[in-house]
Amino acid sequence: MIVHCINCKSKFPVPQDEIFLEGKLLKCKNCHQEWIYVSKSQNLEKKIYSLDLNLSKTEHRLKEQRKNLEEKIIGLEKDLKNKTNELSRQNAVQEKISQYDKRITDIEKINSENSDFEIIKSKLEKKLTTVESDLKNININIEKKSNYLDMKINSINDIKFNTNNLEEFKNIDQIDKNKNEVLDSTKKDKKRPFWRG
Ligand SMILES: [Zn+2]
Repeated sequence: MIVHCINCKSKFPVPQDEIFLEGKLLKCKNCHQEWIYVSKSQNLEKKIYSLDLNLSKTEHRLKEQRKNLEEKIIGLEKDLKNKTNELSRQNAVQEKISQYDKRITDIEKINSENSDFEIIKSKLEKKLTTVESDLKNININIEKKSNYLDMKINSINDIKFNTNNLEEFKNIDQIDKNKNEVLDSTKKDKKRPFWRG
């Protein structure tokens, strides 16, 4: 049979068959490379075995990779769900904050308006005090004038009574007397006990 050098690829004819050479140490006459002979079929088996091993390793690696990816995806989905919930909670908080902000603005506005109303109230109170004072002064004047008129009428009456002629007074100034009856009755009431009529 023909043997190929594994190094320089030189061909050497050998008298033995493949089964005899299997596992034997060979040496190249050309490049002096030494190697253990492996038949083509065994070499193929080894290659297939190695391939199978590699495939298994690759399969295992891919399965592991898939497992890791799935775990990571589950973790990421969980994280995303939590963050989304957190985001919606934050949005709710933000909404509340903006509501509070609006309420504070409203309160500030009411407070400012109340200050304006306070000023209006003070002005009205001041004006009322002035009007009350005016009314009081006018009342005092009216009372003084009324007292003066009362005094004057009394003095006129006193003169008429001094003439000692009551009948004449009645005839001459009957209308005037009627006018004075109201004023007189007030004085009489003060002098007489009320139960005499
Ligand atoms: Zn060789």
